[in-house]
Amino acid sequence: MKRIGLLCLALAVALTARAISAQQLEIRFLDVGQGDAALIRSANKTLLIDAGGSAGVVSYLRAFHIDTIDLVIASHNHADHIGGMSGVLLSAVVRFYMDNGVPHTTATYQRTIQAVQASGAQYLRPTARTITLGDAHIRILPPPPSPPSGQDQNNTSVGVLIEYGEFHALFTGDSELHELDYWLSTGAIPHVHVVKVAHHGSPNGTSAAWIEATHPQVAVISVGAGNSYGHPSAGVIAEWEGAGARVYRTDRDGSVLVLANDDGSFVVTTARADTGGVVQLRPFVQDTTAPATAQPVTSPACCRICTRGKACGNSCIHAAYQCHQPPGCACNAKP
Ligand SMILES: [Zn+2]
Repeated sequence: MKRIGLLCLALAVALTARAISAQQLEIRFLDVGQGDAALIRSANKTLLIDAGGSAGVVSYLRAFHIDTIDLVIASHNHADHIGGMSGVLLSAVVRFYMDNGVPHTTATYQRTIQAVQASGAQYLRPTARTITLGDAHIRILPPPPSPPSGQDQNNTSVGVLIEYGEFHALFTGDSELHELDYWLSTGAIPHVHVVKVAHHGSPNGTSAAWIEATHPQVAVISVGAGNSYGHPSAGVIAEWEGAGARVYRTDRDGSVLVLANDDGSFVVTTARADTGGVVQLRPFVQDTTAPATAQPVTSPACCRICTRGKACGNSCIHAAYQCHQPPGCACNAKP
């Protein structure tokens, strides 16, 4: 019995060591109502992609004790993506700011640009470049050089491919088929583990070719409940699910947290999860043709011992990170 116990402990430590080494990339799809906002953190560096339509994102920054953002990317200049941006720029130090470089006519855009200038953030154009964020690489996918019209905000969304070891996640703002087809034609789109579904799940932000190219295990739709646009499309959800992706949506799940490992495995939890905050454990399956199957976390035992970092829900996280999950089955190691 004692021998079995030691064996279990050794196994748990081995699993923990693997998990800790990889759980250094956090992606939070924030519930900001109708709009987009995502916080990405790696090795104490922070990226914010979009800021939702109102000041709600500032509340999240305060809750996570974030006072410095290394890079802010506004995918495009519609109000549901930059409405909360001036509040962000006022409440946190922003080192670099990137948008799509396409001015918009609204007062929200004017207020945002003035806030960028007043903040002292260095402005970056959305050219093809790779930015280091802690242990992750942020690849910028520039908009097409000739959008359908010069003022087409959606089809000039900045694309962001996040690479953390073997793990990949893709954000494309409100890109519609014109821009998605452009990126496909350039060969810039790899298989990814997590995709933010373009344009809040609208039919013009998803195509069969896009789903086949990205082939994600998880697709996240950032959308407000009861929005007047009819987002998301039931057909779009069915298309992603039909390709094997598990679909999360912020109007029903609340904020969605992805903790990614550098071997490509990752854990997804949501704010409105039924049990213990942990919804799925989704180890990476290398380009399998079979649909990914959900594996509910069912073990009530303390199956993961955190020898480094600290317990958070059923996971081990970096000691400096804030835990916003209820107690799970992970335990801090005793000295
Ligand atoms: Zn939008």
